Amino acid sequence: MRKKTNMSDRTLLLAGNWKMNHDHLEAISSVQKLAWALEDAKLDESRCEVVVIPPFTDIRSVQTLVQGDKLWLKYGAQDVSQHAPGAHTGEIAATFLTRLGCSYVVIGHSERRADNHETNEVVAAKVRAALSAELTPILCVGESLQQRQEKTHVDFTLDQLEESLAGFDASALEGLVIAYEPVWAIGTGETATAADAAEMAAAIRARLAEKYGNGMAESTRILYGGSVKADNVAEIVADADVDGALVGGASLSGPDFAALCKAAVAK
Ligand code: PEP
Repeated sequence: MRKKTNMSDRTLLLAGNWKMNHDHLEAISSVQKLAWALEDAKLDESRCEVVVIPPFTDIRSVQTLVQGDKLWLKYGAQDVSQHAPGAHTGEIAATFLTRLGCSYVVIGHSERRADNHETNEVVAAKVRAALSAELTPILCVGESLQQRQEKTHVDFTLDQLEESLAGFDASALEGLVIAYEPVWAIGTGETATAADAAEMAAAIRARLAEKYGNGMAESTRILYGGSVKADNVAEIVADADVDGALVGGASLSGPDFAALCKAAVAK
């Protein structure tokens, strides 16, 4: 594990994926509480970005609050359509999210890969749609418990990464964020060790360097996700290759998420 130094110029990213929790009224209350708690925490805003990722139906309410109160929080969406606006019932176009002020979009979360049968090909099409609408994709990759036990986790995750980015060149992928989320650690309370997270983040960065060059690999932020909490985040983000966390359950309460952000930045 390589220790982070103050020289790292990748800004720490702490993104709270609410999944299908909080309706639009609960979202307003949660973001308000988060904003107050972050103010109390006196985070150095130049050192980190804090992002909330609510359900689609909350985004307009979050936008109104963030813009109205001039909060420094950013927000995003949990998914996006690979299609342009048109006859695709139930889908949400990337350009709609941009107009709502979204900065980020989670793509290829393991719950969507499992529940909605999203293939790497679909994920790559969604990454393309997001980038063309100037949204930053948070591309999720990670292995199952069985793959971890069989010790094929690194190969599996790197293959998933390559296939989910098929057809892009380095310039197209500027700003991309990758979230390494071992499926067995999501929502289970089972966290990968800091060494597990560091091993995979280093492997992902090395593969990016091989495919797209050192410049792209060094500027890409790699997050860890899977049961991250205020009491384990500091150890995880201490590694030089881990640039933040994608947080599910521990992002639902504003004060808890603020405490997690404070613990991450303190490191
Ligand atoms: C997630 O939803 O991406 C996640 C990491 O969830 P949790 O933190 O609850 O494991």
